Amino acid sequence: MDVERVIKKINSRDARTVGLQFPEGLKMQAVKLAKKIEEETNATVIISGDPCFGACDVSDSKMKGIVDLVIHYGHTALPLKYEVPVYFVEAFSNVRIKPILNECLEKIEDYSKIALVTTTQHLHVLNEIKDYLEDNGKEVVLGSSKSTRKGQVLGCNFSSIKNLDAEIYLFIGSGSFHPLGIYLFTKSPVLALDPYNGEIREMGDFADRILRIRFARITKAKEAKKWGIIVSSKEGQYRMNLAKAIKKELEDLNMEAYIIMVDNVNPDILLPYMDLEAFVVTACPRIAIDDSQMYKKPLITPQELEIVLNKREWEKYQLDEILFHERYK
Ligand code: SF4
Repeated sequence: MDVERVIKKINSRDARTVGLQFPEGLKMQAVKLAKKIEEETNATVIISGDPCFGACDVSDSKMKGIVDLVIHYGHTALPLKYEVPVYFVEAFSNVRIKPILNECLEKIEDYSKIALVTTTQHLHVLNEIKDYLEDNGKEVVLGSSKSTRKGQVLGCNFSSIKNLDAEIYLFIGSGSFHPLGIYLFTKSPVLALDPYNGEIREMGDFADRILRIRFARITKAKEAKKWGIIVSSKEGQYRMNLAKAIKKELEDLNMEAYIIMVDNVNPDILLPYMDLEAFVVTACPRIAIDDSQMYKKPLITPQELEIVLNKREWEKYQLDEILFHERYK
């Protein structure tokens, strides 16, 4: 948890009130950390108890005027304007990856140029993995972008892997969403190595399964004439101009469209809108894909709406992305 560095930061700023924010998996550390900070600094700690899924959702605006500094754990900074000074602590995973790499080598023996990709939790081991692969005769490339660190992708931003010269992508991390995105954006083979359970998966079949589900949602959405367009108030997910452009587009096609603004998007908040037949979500791009089964009515991304409206071919299916430098405001 990098406690000493955090305490040093608080003392150096002489912060009197400090906000602590954690992703769900680290919240159990909150009380222990708050105790240590209050013992070793002059600060009073305020723990943010709200869910937090990314650096798109820093509690700076909620804590503005209350705290002098927000300590945000588990994510890297995004190019956003934060309203209170925010100190990001990445909280890297300490799971060991090297033991699984041997097995991985067998699976990539037919490829010589490998792109290495990961999420925040494993950024610190990328160079070690790169050295290992290079020692075993592979050429390794790491992509970079303005919104991410070298070799890093976010669930809503795959800029770092586009246009890389690689034969196969090796993703280090848990879950299926990031490697799915890499597969869909690169159309290249992707191997996902999960350091927590040692599993190594090829993403092609999984991507086909997800695409079949998306196809069904899009087909169902084609029947809709009354739409809800969901905007999140979270700073990094807020795309009101996009929502307004979608509303206009639908209305120009003689359909009804209503913008609904929420903080956390979830199935329950959509229940009262029984008149609406389908939803477009402009908030976190993962919601429509990851939580798809939880929603009774079609919930689709802006790119999927383009397919519904015959403005994009199904063959050009893409995940939604939030381009933090160019996003709609
Ligand atoms: S928008 Fe979604 S994928 Fe992007 S940082 Fe936020 S929670 Fe993660």
